[in-house]
Parts: sequence; structure tokens; C-alpha cells
Amino acid sequence: MKLFQKSSGYIICLFILLLHNSCSEEKLSTHEIYEINSELILPQAKKATNKPATESSSCRTEFRLFAPDSELNDCPFTDFGDIIFSYIFDFFNDPYFDFDLVNYYLELQKKYVTHYRGDNYFGESGEYNHLADKRTRELEKFWQLERSVIVNGQHTAFLDDRDILASMIESFDRSVRNRTEAYAKADLLLEINALSSTIPESPYFAMDGFTKSNGLLVIGDGLIESIVNLGVDEKVVFTGIISHEWWHQAQFEYSEIWEDIIEFELDWEKSRFLELEADFAAAYFMTHKRGATYNWKRIEDFFEVSYNIGDCLIESTNHHGTPNQRLEAARLGYELAAEAQHKGFILEPQAVHKYFIEHYTEVL
Ligand SMILES: [Zn+2]
Repeated sequence: MKLFQKSSGYIICLFILLLHNSCSEEKLSTHEIYEINSELILPQAKKATNKPATESSSCRTEFRLFAPDSELNDCPFTDFGDIIFSYIFDFFNDPYFDFDLVNYYLELQKKYVTHYRGDNYFGESGEYNHLADKRTRELEKFWQLERSVIVNGQHTAFLDDRDILASMIESFDRSVRNRTEAYAKADLLLEINALSSTIPESPYFAMDGFTKSNGLLVIGDGLIESIVNLGVDEKVVFTGIISHEWWHQAQFEYSEIWEDIIEFELDWEKSRFLELEADFAAAYFMTHKRGATYNWKRIEDFFEVSYNIGDCLIESTNHHGTPNQRLEAARLGYELAAEAQHKGFILEPQAVHKYFIEHYTEVL
């Protein structure tokens, strides 16, 4: 699916959007995309109804770490990039689209899912609940980390739920002073929601997949849906995401020990290593006979498309490795699991990490 010519505008927009959905945010990105103090958000959103959407929705963020063209030639875009762009295309065709409102919602969604503690469901209708329980138990047993991991689901429906939306606003919007004001603002936003064809239904409002050092792991419906739409089995998608993010928890847990071993001078080199290792360890778990027991064929597609497409921002601190590098890292994990299968044991995180370091140059 090629919706647009891959102009530089397309590339810049796509990169910015993908940057927004990076994995281990604490170590990779510290700036906030949108500051929530927007007393003018509602007038802005209403104003959008009176003008063409494209006037208020330009991709305006400056980007300075662009890879040279020669690098981009070796770094092909995958269909996942096209899917993301299709969401943006839908926004541009929605007369009620407003750039600031979209960012406002994204920020609320991210903060809410970061701070929420309580019951969870996974998938729009809870269709992944059973799988989430199963994989969580398996991953706990497989890696035996000291920490407890909390998995939160992210849903576009949160933004259409009056009580949840008011809670988000009350908690995170500094322009609102109390719950009464939060409900008043929520009610106005719900009116816009009702008129808009994309807000908040677009999967783009639930695209988060990240983990934090406190044990939090977030999986958004939109992220799952986007990869499933590329033809990857839905259970493999969910398993791939949770397995990848779980390894970041191992990296947090062993960070002091492993920092001594790997000391990359540049942030993007470190980031690329951490991400490729997460793909490697995820594939190890996913294909291990005491893990998720998939064969390579079942999981190959997932790593081929991957959920950050294997970005080509060679010098970005969010760099995940190119698509080919991610696939090779995953294949290495599968090969290790295949070796270990004969012995029937699970390597400890330390040993998995050591193996990856020893073979790292093979995936680059
Ligand atoms: Zn990651």
C-alpha cells in the first residue's frame, strides 16, 4: 500500500510520528511533545470547524538529526509506515481535526496510562485478556526478574468515556481546578468527539508501546491493530510487543552490571543496542519450547514489519536499528533458542545478554 509519494515531507512527518511512539521512553526521550496547560484548547478545536483542516495541521516540528540520503537508500520504509500515514491522511480529511486537540489527547492518553493502577483489559473488547495473563505468567517464569511488571492497556475508548476523560483532565490539565470544571471541559470535548470522524476513534490515539523503569509496561490497542492490519497473526503481535518490552525490564534490572560491559560513546549507538537486544531476547522467548513455543515462520513477519518499522534515524537517540538489523537480531534469538532446545533449559538474562554482545556485530 503506497498512499503517497515518499517526499521529504512524508519522511519528516513519518519520523516525527514514529518518534512519538518510542519504546523505553525514560532512557530515550525526556522532552514532552505537548505541554498541557491549554486554556485555549476548546476555542482552538471549535475554530477548526471553520477552516480547511490542512491549514492547521502542518507537520511543523523541526528535525535536525536527519540521516543523509545515502543512508536512507539502504533503509527502506515498510508498510507499517504507510499505515501510520493513512491515519494522518484521515485526520487531514476530517473537518473537525485540530492539531492541538490531537496532541492534547495524546498527552492525556500517555499520562493516564502511565499513572493508572487498577483493573485492565487488552484489545478493544478485551479479546487479548486471556493471552495477556498467559504471557505475563510465562514471561515472569521465563526471565525471573526481581521486579513486578505492571501491564496497562491503552484504549481510544478512554477518550469517549465521560468519567475517564474527566479524570484525565482533572489529573493532568493544569488549567482545570476541580472535578466540576473537568466534567464541563469533558462534556465540550465529547461534543467534538461526536462530530469528528477520527477523534478519538483513530488507532493513532492508542499507539503507545513502552516500558518504564518502575516496572510499567504499556500496550495500546492501536499499536496491535496497526500491525495486525499488515497481516501478522494477532496473538503473535501481542506476544511480540510484550516480549520485547519485557526485555527492557531486564535491561533496567541489570543496568548497572551491563553498563560496565557495554559503554557506547554515542546515545544512538546505545539505543540501537538496547532495542536490537530486546528483539533478540523477544525472539528467544517466543520460539523457546519453554517460552511461547512459536516456530520461526510464525514470528518472522512480526519482526519484519516491527512496530517502530526499524527507524532509519541513524543518529537519533531513539534509533531502533534498521528493519534488516531488527530481523537479524530476532533471527539470532531464534537460533539461540533452537540450540538451547536440545538441552531443554532456559538461559538466564545474564547469559542471554552475554551471547548477544558476542554476536552483536553479526546483526549490524
Ligand atoms: Zn523497545
